[in-house]
Amino acid sequence: MNIEWDKLGFAFMPTRSNIRFHYADGKWDEGKLCSDYNINISVAANVLHYGQAIFEGMKAFGCKDGKVRIFRPDENARRINASARQLLMPEFPVEKFVEAVKTVVKDNADYVPPYGSGGSLYIRPVMFGTTPQVGVAPSKEYELVIMVMPVGAYYKGGIKPVDAMISRDFDRAAPHGTGHIKAAGNYAASLLSGKIAKDNHCPVALFLDPATHTCIDEFSTSNFLAITADGKYVTSRSDSILPSITNKSLMQIAQDLGMVVERRQVNVEELATFTEVAACGTAVVLTPVGRIFDGDKVYDYKLTEIGPVLEKLYKQMTGIQYGELPDTHNWLVEI
Ligand SMILES: *Cc1c(COP(=O)(O)O)cnc(C)c1O
Repeated sequence: MNIEWDKLGFAFMPTRSNIRFHYADGKWDEGKLCSDYNINISVAANVLHYGQAIFEGMKAFGCKDGKVRIFRPDENARRINASARQLLMPEFPVEKFVEAVKTVVKDNADYVPPYGSGGSLYIRPVMFGTTPQVGVAPSKEYELVIMVMPVGAYYKGGIKPVDAMISRDFDRAAPHGTGHIKAAGNYAASLLSGKIAKDNHCPVALFLDPATHTCIDEFSTSNFLAITADGKYVTSRSDSILPSITNKSLMQIAQDLGMVVERRQVNVEELATFTEVAACGTAVVLTPVGRIFDGDKVYDYKLTEIGPVLEKLYKQMTGIQYGELPDTHNWLVEI
């Protein structure tokens, strides 16, 4: 194994092992570590036709004291169960999930990028229905696989703002649909909007609330947050957005720093009033947004780098993750 830690991007890479659990006859098995990255399922498996697939994303960090710690895996455990309930898939016990994550991280400890490299070990659980069927019904058998891979600092040479484009042609989720769970299908539904945005030189698409198209929902893979002129943290409240654990943590950090946090409907027109805007999620923590295009309109935040408030939040968050700052909320789980 010879990994150049400072050259890592965000890409799939097989590591020593993944951990797999099988659900049959109404219960999950004890699971096993597995070096194989292929699975053998029927071409009639539920997931391939009817899309019972949910996933998660979290990270383990090589901390300043040399220990490896996982960021809030219990939150991901609860969220995958919320996703499972919505798609009639079996829940997985929270404790067992956290143990499984610890086990697979431990087995791949030498793949955790060292402290100082800016990287982390990305942890990707995925659960899917495997029962062969052509009649539409929930699968009877499921697989939960948790794989891990080292990923690099998303931003080499500083955090640069990206442009976003509001998706006016398509929604990623329906009102009262599956936007609030981490269903694989939500991503398939957002790909075309993402392509349209990219064709217009915008790396990310921004979605509006699908019922009225007057309020901001979120980006295709990350939540929306903004800073107001008087220094408040504002983030969207909507039934069709995914409850981001990064956003939840940043809201707590903002409060700890004495900021006012507002989780509420955010009207599109308010985009003209914000001083800083960002996308937030596990992969990058915070991506500052430089401009937002909406048809002929453009909201320009006139930033060449991350703004001062977002930078403070970013440093606080990554400081906790790498064990440089006190973990006052007990978010980190040591392996
Ligand atoms: C996973 C995801 C996020 C980010 O959630 P985190 O827990 O912060 O990684 C945001 N939006 C969507 C649609 C997602 O699937």
